[in-house]
Amino acid sequence: MLQIVALILGQLANNTYLIADSDSCEAAVIDPACDGHLIATEARQRCWQVGQIWITHAHFDHIGGVADLVRELEKPPMIALHPNDRLLWDTQGGVSLFGVTLPASPAPTIELAERTPLHLGRIPFETRHTPGHTPGHCVFYCAPDGVCFCGDLIFQNSVGRTDLPGGDWRALETSIRSQVFVLPDETRLLPGHGPETTVGHEKSENPFVQA
Ligand SMILES: [Zn+2]
Ligand SMILES: [Zn+2]
Repeated sequence: MLQIVALILGQLANNTYLIADSDSCEAAVIDPACDGHLIATEARQRCWQVGQIWITHAHFDHIGGVADLVRELEKPPMIALHPNDRLLWDTQGGVSLFGVTLPASPAPTIELAERTPLHLGRIPFETRHTPGHTPGHCVFYCAPDGVCFCGDLIFQNSVGRTDLPGGDWRALETSIRSQVFVLPDETRLLPGHGPETTVGHEKSENPFVQA
């Protein structure tokens, strides 16, 4: 069974998702925002083994905890990122734009692409490439559980900003329509910031992109 722990971390109140397959105790962390030690402690308390880190996009507020988290793990984890965000990753998530510093993160080990399959134990996830907020932004969709981890693509009644380097409003709109609004209405959307929502709610209520 898929278990999801949402941790709200950092100055931008990021949602870091610690997720696990309760049968195998295999775990993954989606967007370790910061406080890698705290994330690792949450996993250890549940006897979960974190073997994977999945990155929706490489803005600093989504990768700031990677280096610390990796140090806490017994084995080096798989780190998955779309190559179109690699430049952002290599410049610490554009952190210099915000006047903050961040330690360098270890290199990604998997290059995500459209439909790259990911697994947590026997639970399947599908990568969907959703550029617009950043060029390499991806969401992670678990069809059996009806959950989509959607980073900064879409929020409850809002959408990701497109005014940062690499942002593209038309691409964002297309990504939402073609990759999110096609999912079943009851699909839970777990965003990178703010409360969770559903596909159906956003199709009818989101003021930025109308279905
Ligand atoms: Zn972002
Ligand atoms: Zn963000």
